[in-house]
Amino acid sequence: MARQERCKATTQAGDPCRSFAISADGYCVSHDPSYRSRKHEGSRRGGEAKANARRAAKLWASIGNAVNQDDLPAMLRACLISVRDGTMEPAQASAIAGLAKASVSITNEIELEARLTALEALIDPTRDPKIRRIG
Ligand SMILES: [Zn+2]
Repeated sequence: MARQERCKATTQAGDPCRSFAISADGYCVSHDPSYRSRKHEGSRRGGEAKANARRAAKLWASIGNAVNQDDLPAMLRACLISVRDGTMEPAQASAIAGLAKASVSITNEIELEARLTALEALIDPTRDPKIRRIG
């Protein structure tokens, strides 16, 4: 079995690096200059993604209570324009559209349930939840 070469770099403490070399020029994962720049790029992107997520969470927290169903059409139009202008990812707009649709659907269900309960109470007053509570 061929002996794998050790990394030719020196650690911060000044000792020879004991990791196995993985690159053609004899460096380990930590000391390979091209890997290090890729790793830096990766963590930079990770940091950006986290910052974006934090900004989005802050934004949604601030508008969470302010948005009502009447605002949704205007909000969706704003998303459409943002996607067209390239300031919003289509996937983000798609997610927002999906949530808006779910919100409308839930609101409609709640409204229908209330109307149905009111109609049932008209037909058979004993079914009125208010009357039932008393009786
Ligand atoms: Zn090394």
